[in-house]
Amino acid sequence: MLMDRTTEKVFKKQLLVFASILCIISHSTLVLALEDGQKPKYQSSEPCDYYDDLIFNSTAANSSIKWQVDLGHRLPGSNASYNLRESIKENLTEWQFREEVHSREDFNLTNLIATYQPENSSGQEIFFVAHYDSRDRAERDDNESMRDMPIDGANDGASGVAVLIELAKIIPTMNLNHTVRLLFTDGEDQGVRPGIYGSKAWAENKSDSDLNNISAFIVIDMIGDYDLHFTHVWPGSSELWLTILPLAEGLGLVEGEADCKGNDGEDIFDIETSNGVIDDHVAAHERGVPAIDIIDIQSGEGAENWKGYWHTHNDTIDKVSAESLGKIGRLLELGLRSSSWIIENDTSQEIPSNLSKDDSNTEDSSSFETYESVVLISIAIIFCLFTIIFIFGYLVKKDLK
Ligand SMILES: [Zn+2]
Repeated sequence: MLMDRTTEKVFKKQLLVFASILCIISHSTLVLALEDGQKPKYQSSEPCDYYDDLIFNSTAANSSIKWQVDLGHRLPGSNASYNLRESIKENLTEWQFREEVHSREDFNLTNLIATYQPENSSGQEIFFVAHYDSRDRAERDDNESMRDMPIDGANDGASGVAVLIELAKIIPTMNLNHTVRLLFTDGEDQGVRPGIYGSKAWAENKSDSDLNNISAFIVIDMIGDYDLHFTHVWPGSSELWLTILPLAEGLGLVEGEADCKGNDGEDIFDIETSNGVIDDHVAAHERGVPAIDIIDIQSGEGAENWKGYWHTHNDTIDKVSAESLGKIGRLLELGLRSSSWIIENDTSQEIPSNLSKDDSNTEDSSSFETYESVVLISIAIIFCLFTIIFIFGYLVKKDLK
């Protein structure tokens, strides 16, 4: 019957569409699984082999904070902001500089990017990031009449910049074979709620290919407090956080762990505790760059999260210590010297030639998972093709009858 035959055809067409949709769904799920397996895989490192090489100058970093605070409030577009950038450029003669100007809300922002690219650079780029602006208000200050006035930002602003400047002085002596960039962001701490404007503008204006070579994007913020406490911060790259732990342990910054010299560690890094923080790492993280934020959100001895001196007029030079700056400066230096942030050559493309028991240890588990995903995807594609061919064949046969 005509009616029945038409219904049958429609049914078979629907079946074909359904099979195709099923194929697409299973395929995209597997592709997502594959992407999940392509998280950065950092090469293994032995930080303690480099412990005796550390030369970070924490006294000079502390002096830099005083000097930055003495410039005045580093508000976007201000003379102090301009003078700070000019001084960084003048003092780091082995670095190349670039300024990127953006307009956000009522602010004219200038991000400053310093690049050290040795001749033998592999192309991988490690970013260290700190905001150089100081907050335009002190909304948490006890004195209500002072809340509209800008703060010194000795810890919140100047501390991160001080560590990057001192690090920049020694990086050219380290014989690195990759590129290092320092991103001094503007407008992180402006507005009723800190706007993170500079790093957002930076991330928005980069193409995928600009970002592809970044192996690590490490933000340091509020790292000068004399009573330091760091936790894991989300969002952020778990793989990158895992590279911080052995460095912190080696430097004696993890309680219950012996440092490189066998001494007991202090309770400074507790990455088993996690806090959510919106900072300069977020926009990069959202673009797929492996990014983390090293930040102490407890300003002052025994302060609770987001309390203490934070965003008050007590964020002053006397609340930061050279020793604290040295702890983070040395951690970054140790990470560079031990190549802790270098991504292994792309193992995802290599299919293990011999999957014997010896090869499938934990270190190789990531490439093994990727290999499994590729096999699964291939099987799924072949299965889908067969299903479509089978249904097509069935339809053609029916039509011939
Ligand atoms: Zn702040």
